Amino acid sequence: MRAVAVKAGASSPEVVEIDAPEPDDGEALMRTLRVGIDGTDFEVLKGTHGGFPEGDDYQILGHEAVGVVEDPNGTDLEEGQLVVPTIRRPPAGSNEYFERGEPDMAPPGTYLERGIDGAHGFMSEYFTSPAEYLVPIPAAFAETGILVEPMSNTVKALEHSFSSRSVFDWNPETALVLGNGPLGLLTLAMLDSTVERSYCLGRRDRPDPTIDIIEDLEATYVDSRETPVTEFADVHEPADLVYEATGYAKHAYETVDALAPNGVGVLLGIPDDWTFEIDGGRLHRELVLENKALLGSVNSHLRHFESAKESLDRLPDWFLDRIITDVFTPEEVDQAFEGGDDRIKTVIEFGTR
Ligand code: NDP
Ligand code: ZN
Repeated sequence: MRAVAVKAGASSPEVVEIDAPEPDDGEALMRTLRVGIDGTDFEVLKGTHGGFPEGDDYQILGHEAVGVVEDPNGTDLEEGQLVVPTIRRPPAGSNEYFERGEPDMAPPGTYLERGIDGAHGFMSEYFTSPAEYLVPIPAAFAETGILVEPMSNTVKALEHSFSSRSVFDWNPETALVLGNGPLGLLTLAMLDSTVERSYCLGRRDRPDPTIDIIEDLEATYVDSRETPVTEFADVHEPADLVYEATGYAKHAYETVDALAPNGVGVLLGIPDDWTFEIDGGRLHRELVLENKALLGSVNSHLRHFESAKESLDRLPDWFLDRIITDVFTPEEVDQAFEGGDDRIKTVIEFGTR
């Protein structure tokens, strides 16, 4: 079968021909429909994130997938059922986080990640997975279901944010999303029904498709070159919730300035090392005296995927049509991995229902 993989020593992906996987006991075999590409795939290509499966000199990419069950192989799944796989797998055997159904809370080094860290991804004509890591989705999500995984990360991040404010009367009215990449835009759309006013920060000139989406969601576009995060509260209004999806490390600390008293900032970006100066004393004081919370959130698991399905169902069609901007065949892999401001979510399509 054809797979999109990166070989040892290479920094760009290619189509390789490998044997189709055979499902073990408890695993189902899926025919792949679509796999989304995101920033993490580029980090895997660069070699800055994750690593190859042990003993292999290539890694199959892809962690945002939709497949159709080809062979249930004795599991409870039915042939023809559409599924989205979760990403984390236990390393040899299991560990306590997997046993209690919270692998997203496992510390680095205690899990494998399909397509990212130590395990092959889903960018191939077929993939196998234990049935317990497959989330059934409706047939109507054949094209958009690749968004369930990124959206599940937001479900988890918002769940942790809201939990941190659940011990007092907190009714967030305003949200600031930092970043107009796919994660930021999906989150902005998901927050539409939660807050009264929302803002989304980018660093692009008009005309730009992401700014159009922000404005069509009736949110306000904030250009960080004109209004840095540190000035956001003065220029606009303090935000009850800040969701960071830029990976720009200064934003982690500037978030404290943008927050309203009692607000919560949740960080999702994954920056490289960067040393810079901050007024730590002031930020510490503000966090304490204004009861602010700052937390990090990564990955997600089954419950978040289930909830992300409901969120996906609520997103308007126009938004879904405009967020998935490019669909390529596996043979067009070079084009698929080209960047560009006109691209939001790029997808590789192996097949259709
Ligand atoms: P992208 O890289 O596609 O999006 C980041 C966006 O932030 C880009 O649109 C970029 O603008 C914008 N941006 C970066 N720096 C600035 C700045 N200084 N001012 C204004 N805008 C800025 O990534 P994704 O949307 O896929 O993901 C966002 C982040 O979240 C990444 O760091 C990713 O690694 C991480 N991530 C974390 C997950 C988790 O579970 N914690 C899950 C998935 C992703 P431009 O395009 O114009 O450069
Ligand atoms: Zn992703």
